[in-house]
This record gives sequence, structure tokens and C-alpha cells, in this order.
Amino acid sequence: MERSTVRELLADSEIGSTITLAGWVRTRRDSKEFSFLEINDGSCLSNIQVVADAGIESYSEHVLKASTGSAVKVIGELIESPGKGQRVEVKATDVELIGAAPSDYPMQKKRHSNEFLRTIAHLRPRTNTYGAVFRVRHAAAMAIHRFFDERNFVYLHSPIITTSDCEGAGEMFRVSTFDPLNPPRVDGKSGGAIDYAEDFFGAEASLTVSGQLEAEIFALALGNVYTFGPTFRAENSNTPRHLAEFWMIEPEMAFYDLNDNMKLGEEFIKYIIKYVLEKCPEDMAFFDRWIEKGIIDSLQSVAEANFEHMTYTDAIAVLEKSGKDFEFPVHWGMDIQTEHERFLTEEHVGRPVYVTNYPKDIKAFYMRVDEGEKTVSAMDLLVPRLGEIIGGSQREEREDVLRRRIKECGLEEEIYWWYLDLRRFGTAAHAGFGLGFERMVMYLTGMSNIRDVVPFPRTPGNAMF
Ligand code: ATP
Ligand code: MN
Repeated sequence: MERSTVRELLADSEIGSTITLAGWVRTRRDSKEFSFLEINDGSCLSNIQVVADAGIESYSEHVLKASTGSAVKVIGELIESPGKGQRVEVKATDVELIGAAPSDYPMQKKRHSNEFLRTIAHLRPRTNTYGAVFRVRHAAAMAIHRFFDERNFVYLHSPIITTSDCEGAGEMFRVSTFDPLNPPRVDGKSGGAIDYAEDFFGAEASLTVSGQLEAEIFALALGNVYTFGPTFRAENSNTPRHLAEFWMIEPEMAFYDLNDNMKLGEEFIKYIIKYVLEKCPEDMAFFDRWIEKGIIDSLQSVAEANFEHMTYTDAIAVLEKSGKDFEFPVHWGMDIQTEHERFLTEEHVGRPVYVTNYPKDIKAFYMRVDEGEKTVSAMDLLVPRLGEIIGGSQREEREDVLRRRIKECGLEEEIYWWYLDLRRFGTAAHAGFGLGFERMVMYLTGMSNIRDVVPFPRTPGNAMF
């Protein structure tokens, strides 16, 4: 079907032209002589108003049966709108009811809770909020690809199935073709160890928790690369910020130190914000009005601000002096929890802040050991409303130190033979970070639950649709 989108019609189509549009009825009002249909086709937040004269041929069979939720096709003339708010409306000459929606259509005009809408995730994209969320999500994805493309980074498709358990022992989803009731056993007896050598990949395989190690391989060949793909974590935490399946962006850069890394991360976040504010003004105004008051101003100021930097050690001192009654008590060596992160970024600094140089015992084996051996060159970016949005580090490029760290962390050196090879053959300083894509979309939209910024959330107990 050749049709104009509502977005095109509202923006710049010529008044007086004959147009075809198609979409879903949001509401219909009937008077004696006319029906007024509000049509939305997902191309933008706004509906377009269609006026159907009771005299048109399709009136009783089509217009009067086009209830909320129905799909319709409209042919008509684009006319100047006498009402306020919109430039144009459509005077219909023909309305075709393509697909009716009976009165049990669950999204009648009233407002529904996000919790309820999650149970009808197959219909929620037709609401204002979710249409806006997924248009913004799209714009953010495009911003990310553009940002890296403009800087000549190579987009790397890191594998989704992996046999290298790089960091998340216990957090990985197993991938196997074994009969779960009767897997082959090493000693042939039931109850013995499962013989993964017999499995599809000849080894224990899982869904990836990160593409970083593979990105390091390519950074040490192509220079600057990034991944943007699905990531899986079987962490059994029911929080508003964790999904079992989420998308992550992981840039990895050769000849970068921690400062270069943080500088790129700051430019990156600012670029995404500016791009989305420019491309999605209508959707962002909607979030500002209905979801998070003042979000446009706050994002704009983040895009202009200089991000703060503080070491983990300084952050702990600030938290200890804060006089706050935190749920998790503060001491050097602890992992910084969300409550602490939010205090630091919201109350102490009042804008995004990088916390750097964490104790090595709470960070991964691959992070570069600092002078003094107590901390590693890690960085987390904390932002208001959310806490951690980026986690990254300079990687350990010294073969001997890396070997020692693998041992200290209780990992098996043999598994990392290829990772160690990168340090044996032409090693070089390199660094990178991971941005959780859904966290970024939450930050951009003000949506407070991560389940509401992903098309179909996967969380403990739920993988419907
Ligand atoms: P958190 O402390 O919030 O669980 P993390 O330290 O496990 O985060 P990393 O392993 O550094 O996070 O992952 C990089 C980024 O991926 C994080 O900064 C965050 O934006 C995002 N992220 C991590 N876990 C999840 C998850 N379960 N769901 C969605 N995004 C996540
Ligand atoms: Mn985590």
C-alpha cells in the first residue's frame, strides 16, 4: 500500500493534497453528521484527526465499526485544522476497516499501569509511552553506531555462544543439547560428572556475559573496535535495573590508558544525549511532561557539564563522612552499592562522576594493577537517577602480572591461553568499557524500570513472548 505516515502528514505534507494513510484507531467520537477518528500509526507520538462525513459510502459499514484498536485505511484530503494544536487534519472520502477490534481490546482510553502493560507486552507498543520508548531506543542505537563510525571504529560481532567463562562464574546460562534427564557421564555411571566433551561444542558452553575478551583480540589488530549485542546474565536479582538478557556496547581501544578511556566514555554519553534530544523532540517532551519532570533540562546540562572524577579511596572517605545511614555499611574494600553510587552522583557531586582505581579484590582479573598493588585501573561512571551506567578499565597488558592475577583469582591459566598470547605477541596498553544499553534508555527516557525499555523483558521467572 502506498501511504503517508502520520509523521509526514503532520510535518510537511501539502494542504489540499489527496492522501492515503493507515493506522490504528485510538478513539472515535460520533455526532449526527460526522465521526472524528484519532489515528495513530506509530510513526510519531501524535495522532492525526480524521473527519468522516456521515454521507460517505463506507460510513455505516466501516466508520461506525472502527472502534478503539481497529486498523483502518483512510483516503481523503489534507485540510487545515480549524481546531488548535495541530496544523492539519484529514477530511475522509473513504474509510476502510481493515481489522476490527472487539470491545475486549485491553487498551481502552484510560491509563494503565506499567505493571499491567507488561502482561500484554504484545499490545503495549501501541500506547503513547511505549511508542515513545521504542522510538527513542532506536535513535539511541543509531547515535551509538554513528558515534563510532565517525571515529573510524570497527563494529565487531562478538560471539553469543562461548566456551570461555571469562568472569561471571555462576552467572552464565548453559548451552547444551544433552537430554537433561540423562546426560552422558564421564565414568558412565549415573550421578557421575557430566561429560561435556560429548556435548555439541565438545566443552561446557554458555551464553556470553560480555564480548570484551574477544573485542580485545580485535583491538590489538584493528585498533579501535566496538561490540553492540545481546548479553546474558543468570543473576537471580529482581531489581528495576537488571535483566537476564540485555544489550551491551563494548568499545575496546588499543594504545588507550584509563584517562583516554574515560574521555571517550564522556564524549560518548554526551553524543547520545544530544542526538536523541535533536531527533526525538516530541517523544522527549512527552517524557518530560508525563514520566520525569525536567528530564530535558537535566539531560541538556549533562551534555554540557564536565564529568567529575574521584578515586574509589576518596569516594569511600566521602561516604564515611556523609553521615548517611546506608543499608550497606561503608568501609574501604567493599563494593560500592547503588545507594552509595546515587549519593555520590546526586548529592555529593550533582552530576555524572567517574569513580576510579577500585580495590583489586572486588574487580576482575583482567584489570590493570596499579602501582602499589592494592587497586586496579577500573572506572565506573555514575549518573543521577541510576547509579552505574558504564563500567570499564585499562586492561592488564603485562604477561607476568596477568598470569599472577589469573592465579590469585582462582582461575585456570590454560583456559586463557589465547588471552595470554595477546600479551606474549606484541602486547600494548589498551582499554575499554561496557555501557548497558537499557540503562542508557532508562536514563534518556526517565523510565524507572528496566523491564519497560526492552521489547520483551527476560527476568527470573519470565521469558514470555
Ligand atoms: P551492576 O553492579 O549494576 O550489576 P555490573 O558491575 O555487573 O553492574 P558490568 O559487568 O561492568 O556491570 O557490565 C557493564 C554494564 O552493563 C553496566 O555498567 C550496566 O550498564 C550494564 N549491566 C550489567 N548488568 C546488567 C543487567 N543484568 N541488566 C542490564 N544491564 C546490565
Ligand atoms: Mn552485576
